[in-house]
Amino acid sequence: MTIAAQAPAYIRAISPYVPGKPITELAREMGLPVARIVKLASNENPLGMSPKARVAVEKAISGIERYPDQFELVAALAERLGVAHGQIVLGNGSNDVLDLVARVFLAPGRSAVFSQHAFAVYPLATMSAGAECIVAPARNYGHDLAAMKAAIVTNARPETRLVWIANPNNPTGNFLPYGEVEAFLRQVPPDVAVVLDEAYNDYLPPAERVDSVAWLKHFPNLIVTRTFSKIYGLAGLRVGFAVASPEVADLLNRVRQPFNVNNLAIAAARAALDDHLFLADSYELNRRGMEQIVAGLKRLGLDHIPSHGNFVTFAVSDGGAVNQKLLKQGIIVRPIGGYGLPNHLRVTIGLEAENARFLDALDKSC
Ligand SMILES: *Cc1c(COP(=O)(O)O)cnc(C)c1O
Repeated sequence: MTIAAQAPAYIRAISPYVPGKPITELAREMGLPVARIVKLASNENPLGMSPKARVAVEKAISGIERYPDQFELVAALAERLGVAHGQIVLGNGSNDVLDLVARVFLAPGRSAVFSQHAFAVYPLATMSAGAECIVAPARNYGHDLAAMKAAIVTNARPETRLVWIANPNNPTGNFLPYGEVEAFLRQVPPDVAVVLDEAYNDYLPPAERVDSVAWLKHFPNLIVTRTFSKIYGLAGLRVGFAVASPEVADLLNRVRQPFNVNNLAIAAARAALDDHLFLADSYELNRRGMEQIVAGLKRLGLDHIPSHGNFVTFAVSDGGAVNQKLLKQGIIVRPIGGYGLPNHLRVTIGLEAENARFLDALDKSC
């Protein structure tokens, strides 16, 4: 018996997460200069980080010998969201928080329900906790809440203890109207936790956003997660958070590593929260870029899934082949065969010139 064989079967069954290809890696592979490469593969903010966050990071470097203090960021988030401090749980990215939720509510003999084509971290977190994945079929590439409700196992094993929902969803970009999500919450048994992953919330038109955090008063089994990785432009610093009922937040904080978010990330997130100008610019750039890319895809005769995030998924004849041709031209997008969509590619909305280079390269690749 090898040492690897000693790991539980549910750990050995996990397929590793495949991240977007780093710019430096493609540069090495293709012998291309880094400056010639356009990466539109990981839903990062093309404007970089908030200038206010940059100043805060530089300032926080003095003090790096100290362990981090989460108080100020927690307090700012609690105030912004109208909840108690004890309802905020910080994560080393929101992925960290998703993992904490799985550790709190899942175990062997239990299951989690999520949709076909949902975010790849849901099966990872579920399986790491030894629980089983129940995948509900998608409808028009998006979450079918009726199918998800029907998939919940109540009186048998593996008893469902958790439901994962991304809204908007990644990689498909689908958006569930808030009324449907609220109706779903009413139908889910109160002893099943529901994660509402709102990583792309800030890309919704302000008039369409509803305060899902306010639902916590009625649904103590709800956990809302958000991140500083997308519109706030801090993906590399790793900071996100959950908002939950006090009792759930308390459990999450028990399994959380005490210093899971570093000093620089805390300082940057605190400053970025108030950088309204940067957020408005990022939102507007995304809105225009989405129009540009969608118009370009239409011109090329390619179907796309209407998206509510900072990315769009489109159909091609052969996802693998088109991706290779794009890479040869220095364009990195995201193949999503691992999400059950082998003939779709996901592109992140970039700067106007990056979007144009992508469309031009795509024209030569299809
Ligand atoms: C990007 C993304 C996240 C955020 O991940 P971080 O760990 O915060 O960087 C969470 N959920 C979904 C669906 C995402 O696409």
